[in-house]
Amino acid sequence: MNSTRTITLFRAGLLNPIDSDTWVYIRDGICAVSKGRIIQCGPTNKIYRQFPNIEVISLDGTIMPGFTDLHCHWVQHDVQGVYSGELLDWLQNYIWPEERRFINESLARERAKAFYSDMLRAGTVMGLSFSSVHVGATKIALSEMRGDWIIGNALMAVNAPNYLTSHSCHRYDDLRSVVDDVDGSHYAVTPRFAPNLRAVDLRIAAEIASSRSLLLQTHLAESKAEVRWVKELFPEAKNYTDVYDRIGLLGSRTVLAHCVELDETEWICLAKRRAWVAHCPSSNEALYNSRMPLERLRQFHVSWALASDIGAGPSHSMLHVLQRFFAIHEAAGVRVTSEEGLYRSTLAGAQAIGRDKVAGNFMPGKRADFVLMPGRPRQNELSGWFRDLCVGTIAELEHRPLGTWLGGMQIEP
Ligand SMILES: [Zn+2]
Repeated sequence: MNSTRTITLFRAGLLNPIDSDTWVYIRDGICAVSKGRIIQCGPTNKIYRQFPNIEVISLDGTIMPGFTDLHCHWVQHDVQGVYSGELLDWLQNYIWPEERRFINESLARERAKAFYSDMLRAGTVMGLSFSSVHVGATKIALSEMRGDWIIGNALMAVNAPNYLTSHSCHRYDDLRSVVDDVDGSHYAVTPRFAPNLRAVDLRIAAEIASSRSLLLQTHLAESKAEVRWVKELFPEAKNYTDVYDRIGLLGSRTVLAHCVELDETEWICLAKRRAWVAHCPSSNEALYNSRMPLERLRQFHVSWALASDIGAGPSHSMLHVLQRFFAIHEAAGVRVTSEEGLYRSTLAGAQAIGRDKVAGNFMPGKRADFVLMPGRPRQNELSGWFRDLCVGTIAELEHRPLGTWLGGMQIEP
């Protein structure tokens, strides 16, 4: 059998993120795909010589890797952007009553389908998400998955309504039986945040994640009020970060959302533990008009990637996240570049969740998960073109991609 029969050639502009300072752009390129994987990318003339008799699919625009969203709450997709204000009020008045509804499995299934469909429409193919406390809803999100997601049921033991805590699997045997029952490559241990758990619960989460080599996701220092509350709840800890660190919860497989209100010793601790930060600029802006100090992340060489944090984030579109990322940091006089924006919304997120060997950019051997954007700029217009992709209303940005491909197959959102 002729093996070239299984090869598809996509001709378009190709934009490939390499690191935070570097991307590679080929204005007229071909991405050769076989059995869902990229086998080669390069200038059209060169690739076409290697595969002369294969039909070329010409795409009108530029392809780039599909986005990775390092922190979101799929169960809040329906209420994203409904409110801005104080975190703790927002949780109590909007989010927890909404998440309560996910005990209903037919609602959960309908919402999971809508979440994946909207994510793919917006060009997001991969990510890390919180579920509600309900194991049933979490399993539904795993079984309905389109793209490559890692999801965990939120663990909540205290300081929350009984209608949530009574369904939480924070106890050792409960959490272990959930972990035994799911595919570990798509599951993250998910303590909601320090105020919802006692030290004993956090220790259980850390132990189970570490013994099973699972990702662990939680929140850290999103607001000043939260930091004050954690100080009251955990007087023995030196600071918020130390609440997690003293029980061994921080490591290279830990993803911490926000990290807006940290002091210098906390940044040093995160760097030492090689923990990942999910930076959620649109969410921080929506809830507090606050800004995560990007210059501190850079100063202490802490690893990070971008995230929507829906529902606090007003949109699941990573183009919207990028719009706010550029605007917020530039308004504070902090330099950000288009190259960094692309890398932090694609490959960096893949690295954070351990998928960079199989996805995140156009290296041969990786999954052909990509998104088509309008326009095929000249080399000297590239950075401006990328910025222009991020200009517009939320509705425009959520629908800007012209198409999304998973494993070389164009998907119907
Ligand atoms: Zn969150």
